[in-house]
Amino acid sequence: MSSNSAVVVGGGIGGLAAAIGLRLAGWDVTVVERATELDDAGAGISLAANGLRALTTLGVGEAVEAASRRQYTGGTRTPSGRRLARMDGTALERELGAPIIGIPRAALHRILREALPAESLVIGAEVTAVEAAKPAIGATRPPRIRVEYGGTALDADLVVAADGIGSRLRRRLFPDHPGPVYSGSTVLRAITERPVEGTTGDSIADFELTWGHGAEFGHIAFPDGRAEWHAVLTAPAGVRYPDPLAEVRRRFAGWHEPIPALLAATRPEAVLHHDVNELVTPLPSFTAGRVALLGDAAHAMTPHLGQGACQALEDAVTLAAAIGSEPGVESALARYDAERRTRSQAVARDARRAGRMGQQLAYPLAVAARNAAIRLTPPGAMVRTALRHADWTPPQITAATTRA
Ligand code: FAD
Repeated sequence: MSSNSAVVVGGGIGGLAAAIGLRLAGWDVTVVERATELDDAGAGISLAANGLRALTTLGVGEAVEAASRRQYTGGTRTPSGRRLARMDGTALERELGAPIIGIPRAALHRILREALPAESLVIGAEVTAVEAAKPAIGATRPPRIRVEYGGTALDADLVVAADGIGSRLRRRLFPDHPGPVYSGSTVLRAITERPVEGTTGDSIADFELTWGHGAEFGHIAFPDGRAEWHAVLTAPAGVRYPDPLAEVRRRFAGWHEPIPALLAATRPEAVLHHDVNELVTPLPSFTAGRVALLGDAAHAMTPHLGQGACQALEDAVTLAAAIGSEPGVESALARYDAERRTRSQAVARDARRAGRMGQQLAYPLAVAARNAAIRLTPPGAMVRTALRHADWTPPQITAATTRA
């Protein structure tokens, strides 16, 4: 009997992780990605214990850790530099059993890509249709799904829709769902072109967030001393600036170090600008027939908890574990939906709330009350609260007993 096969639509973090997991479960996998270069056009990313554990289950945890910087120092501050909460990375690592790490997205993406055979990646091909394949005359195996891209048609036993927040497959499978909406925040971000030091020549904090009124500035430091910074602004949808770096310098003028140093070490053409969209209306299911939705296609959330990719990684491992251990694809997909939907949608809700209480809070009295409340919170409790979703134990992936 030929082995079971899956097509993963989308080669982002979620799609590549799902492909690695399904291969561990013994399936043949093809990833179809519309971009002509397989990369992640973001800057940097933080991965909490749950994301790192998922990567370890996929066999790439060590490589990811080697390319990352552990986040032990930093926390939350006000624009003048006054500390609101201190990050205690060592305590968090002790509590969660794994550190929080910061890594350039390009490095994470490369590690995931390299864990897959080159022939399983089809690049520069947009999936345009997914529909039930016609069963062959006298066929004994259950109906398959046909995926079409660039003049090619591929039949598979399972399709993973990892095609991101603008998912075409989600629109097709859930035509009544309203789709993503603008969160009210826009984000500008970049990686510095050189290492950045603190004012006294020491290393900058591993991770820091600074909240103003309707604005947040944060950075994630990398092992080589460079850092990604992000500036999140409450702004009308679609706002664009002729010189984005100049706009960030203007908006964050007078904010504490190392913010000016990070901006001074940035080339103007390195700045990326995206509106933050999210799925406010939860999907009624993460599966439809033999299609599993995963990552931003299933539960795009705001970045205020740094959990979007971590949840996509949880999805990937959970799907592969279910496929590997359930007797059939249908029961595996039912288990995937049951184990992932409630949890990831709760994280998305909390991320939205975190944004409202953090970056999006603009009314001065409300900002003052929030800051006072944070300062009164016992050390470490705030960060632990923000990271409570990081406490997740991955299921193990075993070679498939699932039969299509
Ligand atoms: P994507 O990365 O969007 O990948 C989808 C892929 O599908 C793309 O490559 C696309 O080209 C491809 N595609 C789309 N349609 C088709 C088609 N029809 N055919 C073929 N290919 C197609 N998460 C964290 O865990 N930690 C963080 O610190 C963090 N910071 C963030 C900061 C910001 C500013 C933002 C916006 C998000 C952040 N996130 C973070 C969230 C995280 O980036 C996303 O949740 C994650 O990248 C989603 O991965 P994905 O694979 O589901 O989707």
